[in-house]
Amino acid sequence: LNALYSPLNQISSLYRRVMNNAVDTEQLIDLLNEEREINDRPGAIDLEIDPSVGADIEFNDVRFSYGKEATNSADEVEVLKGITFKVPRGKSVALVGPSGGGKSTITRLLFRFYDVKSGSIKINGTDVRDLTQRSLRAQIGLVPQETVLFNSSVRMNIAYGGINRLDEKGMGGEDLTMEKVIDAAKAAAMHDRIMSFPQQYETLVGERGMRLSGGEKQRVAIARTLLKDPPILILDEATSALDTFNERIVQARLRELSQGRTTLTIAHRLSTIIDSDIINVLKEGVIVESGSHAELLELGGVYAELWKKQIEGQTPSVPASVAATPNG
Ligand code: ATP
Repeated sequence: LNALYSPLNQISSLYRRVMNNAVDTEQLIDLLNEEREINDRPGAIDLEIDPSVGADIEFNDVRFSYGKEATNSADEVEVLKGITFKVPRGKSVALVGPSGGGKSTITRLLFRFYDVKSGSIKINGTDVRDLTQRSLRAQIGLVPQETVLFNSSVRMNIAYGGINRLDEKGMGGEDLTMEKVIDAAKAAAMHDRIMSFPQQYETLVGERGMRLSGGEKQRVAIARTLLKDPPILILDEATSALDTFNERIVQARLRELSQGRTTLTIAHRLSTIIDSDIINVLKEGVIVESGSHAELLELGGVYAELWKKQIEGQTPSVPASVAATPNG
């Protein structure tokens, strides 16, 4: 029986991996111009965000399930059950909570990989369903949990971040110089590592090329996003155990990247989001708590419990005074 289940499990785990990287996959599909499930509404407008003004994001009583049928179907599992929150311009908002609570689903809806079943998501007052998808995605930078690298040079993997600036034919936008790619790699603390590769920026990476570590892939994603320079950021923090050195670099870069941008962070390690302006605690599709780190600790609810568990899990033997800020 095991012999039968093992390959099935592998396929299902592969499927889940692809789905969980859905936003990245969606960008790829966009790139290849394949037919999409969600289409632009006739008369859809382009999202234009004045960088000096920034972007306000608003989720209003959002309900969502993954099935295609109407929400009232008996066996339809509602994944988001009336989500309301704001990400004010230039602020950082974190989503935390137990696995399966709906955090990633929220980011997929913001990207409009799926449409809400009811309620609305608005950016600067305009419903995302009234926007062209191309313009919406051009304004959002994503640093995913697991970065997908194309089988191409590390240069192209970074340059892809500037794809929204390229010309109609897809490549060779005048704006996207090698100098800009290098600047982005430097700012993401990846340049020195790339210079140590056999063919430096021309080194092939991805499945068929050189394998990069989780932290290196994330730094490529950060470089990509720097090049894209979007007013809205989605950070899906890695759960995988990056080594401490890499983790510190990645965290520091992510913090710099989010300065002055409207940022939505999915956090698995609470220590990385204690400075967020607002932390929303999501449980089974509902925001059960919302506030600053200090406010939520004071509340003594779900967040305080998660915080306690992380401290116990990560630093079992340090004194309480030190344990208050695990991971630095
Ligand atoms: P984690 O912290 O483990 O990443 P999460 O809070 O991000 O979890 P989601 O990935 O948004 O949670 O998942 C919310 C619910 O939706 C879960 O029950 C999950 O099984 C389900 N789900 C996620 N993706 C899909 C999909 N593509 N099709 C059907 N159900 C899905």
